[in-house]
Amino acid sequence: MTPIRIAVIGSGPAGFYTAGHLLKDGPEDLEVDMIERLPTPWGLVRSGVAPDHPKIKSVTRVYEKTAAHPRFRFFGNVELGRDISRPELAQHYHCVVYATGSPADRPLGIPGEQLPGSHPATDFVGWYNGHPDYCDHDFDLSASRAVVIGNGNVALDVARMLTLSHDELAQTDIADHALELLDASNVREIVVVGRRGPAQAAFTNPELLELGELADADVIVDAEELERALSVADPNMDPTSERNVSVLRDYSRRAPTGKSKRVVLRFLLSPTELIGDGNGVRTVVMARNALQGGKDGRLRAEPTGETERIDAGLVMRAIGYRGIALPGVPFDDRSATIPNEGGRVLRGRTGVPVDNPQAAPANVLPSEHPEATPANVLPSEHPEATPANVLPSEHPEATPAGVLPGEYAVGWIKRGPSGVIGTNKKDAQETVDALLEDLAAGTHLRPSEPDPEAIEALLAERVPALVTYEGWSEIDRHEQAMGESHGRPRVKLTRIEQLLRVAAGEQPDAEPLDTLGLR
Ligand code: NAP
Repeated sequence: MTPIRIAVIGSGPAGFYTAGHLLKDGPEDLEVDMIERLPTPWGLVRSGVAPDHPKIKSVTRVYEKTAAHPRFRFFGNVELGRDISRPELAQHYHCVVYATGSPADRPLGIPGEQLPGSHPATDFVGWYNGHPDYCDHDFDLSASRAVVIGNGNVALDVARMLTLSHDELAQTDIADHALELLDASNVREIVVVGRRGPAQAAFTNPELLELGELADADVIVDAEELERALSVADPNMDPTSERNVSVLRDYSRRAPTGKSKRVVLRFLLSPTELIGDGNGVRTVVMARNALQGGKDGRLRAEPTGETERIDAGLVMRAIGYRGIALPGVPFDDRSATIPNEGGRVLRGRTGVPVDNPQAAPANVLPSEHPEATPANVLPSEHPEATPANVLPSEHPEATPAGVLPGEYAVGWIKRGPSGVIGTNKKDAQETVDALLEDLAAGTHLRPSEPDPEAIEALLAERVPALVTYEGWSEIDRHEQAMGESHGRPRVKLTRIEQLLRVAAGEQPDAEPLDTLGLR
């Protein structure tokens, strides 16, 4: 009997909770292969969670248990669209679950945004966490004031990271390049700016409370501005926002204690322009806002016509992450998510088509096939067949619900970049319940090569430096051993080449470079 083969694309919390639920709740012949672009697993737990939050990172112990399951395999250094296409996945798996997160930043769309010294916070976060895509980024920390735009937890992470001392950072798994640069940082004041008020801030309580306990920085809140921002009652206040308001009121009553740095929390300000000189950003022009109720009951920031200028040589835009279209996979550009209903992928506009001659519509059964359902059929020669093998929703053969059989989304690429790590557990349960219900009903892809060895052989041929879970365990052991002598949880390898060498059992700086077929 051929096992039920499931591919999970992406190895962050959403991917791992999905794998865990599948292996726990699914039939005993269900197998999970996880495909990950990087040589390392854990997604934002490794490259998003701030280095000074080791407790949050310890959630990987749960994922390690899933990875140790005999019906689980990890294939790292494999990119969907580069090394394997969506139609090829359909040749090998009964179901595919996309768990690719929201890796891009959201732009502000204001003049001067691209000036040197103005960065998406996502770049800074990736950089201090040693994500290989960001390790060559350059941050000039010579200015005395930084402005962080946004009132979410990422804004707080960035502000906090700019205040931590060498001793605080040196006990963490922060990337060495970031430790060195932050050590020499000249930033003394970090102004965190929200376009709405304290009651609308997206901070969670522990993160806001932590800001008041920084060893080297006073937290400053102007009482008059705070109360002005609170003068319009918000009908959507929840216990988290009520607690945030009370914490912020407490901060507004504090007198600065003369610590070497300050974090200033400002409200009702929207950046409208960044002005620079030859050396980069120098001033942030802000519109002052007032809160107004919208038709949906949500309070909106409306400009009052007044402006304010804040001089700063470093600007971090922490206004949220954004999903990226996967080649050939439906994508809703407005929400930057995969269109879905409870995790079931819906037909729709597709992402960038795969430039791959093998990208034939392989996951569709010809309509006359006895197992074909009206929902999953569009023969490749059909005049309306797209290269991405997606039925337009108005197609006569599309199901009323427009569901693409056998394809699922989970995590941020399913619901957008919201919630904390644990939110993905419940989210994954919803997707897995839908998948298992569909499996039981016989609604899934019809892989022509479901043999687990077939996909392994294909990947090994395409990706000479394929990283298995054993390869990642080598990296993990190496990083932890490097950290041990310095009292750190690990010293991260930040370059793909180093990671691949260590995964293959070599030293990180071994020569020659191309023995692993490195691209
Ligand atoms: P977020 O929580 O969605 O916050 C984004 C902030 O940016 C909001 O204050 C939003 O204000 C503001 N914003 C959006 N567009 C703006 C614009 N054009 N101009 C000015 N401000 C704008 O996003 P995030 O901070 O990136 O965090 C992403 C998710 O990861 C969140 O769920 C967060 O809780 C989670 N996270 C958790 C932790 C942790 O648990 N320690 C750490 C980091 C991240 P409006 O409300 O007015 O739209």
